[in-house]
Amino acid sequence: MFCNYCGAQVPDDSIFCNKCGKRLVLESHIKSKTNMHTVKITRESQAFLVNPSVNISINGKEYLSIEDGKTIDLQLEEGKYEFIFYQSIKKKDKVISISLDEDIHIYVRWNRLWGRIEAFLIK
Ligand SMILES: [Zn+2]
Repeated sequence: MFCNYCGAQVPDDSIFCNKCGKRLVLESHIKSKTNMHTVKITRESQAFLVNPSVNISINGKEYLSIEDGKTIDLQLEEGKYEFIFYQSIKKKDKVISISLDEDIHIYVRWNRLWGRIEAFLIK
């Protein structure tokens, strides 16, 4: 590997650079910082009297709510994610499973006729 400070080539298991003496940053640490992706979630603006907010859980952990016409930006590490979009906890309206390796945009709307949440991946 190479020293991040002086560029000298050093053995892969080095903790300190043998040329400039600075502590080397592990490549895995750099990687986890740079492999972040933006997940943009847009809630379609819908002019209906009954227009429930959409709840979102990510890998069963984070719970977000997105209101009519709003967009949220999430910064997430590369990896596998399951987004569940729902109106109430009992009703998992739409599940999107992705392998996050690039920025993505998810478009969410409430289908008034079906009374269900719809979510689409936009390329
Ligand atoms: Zn160095």
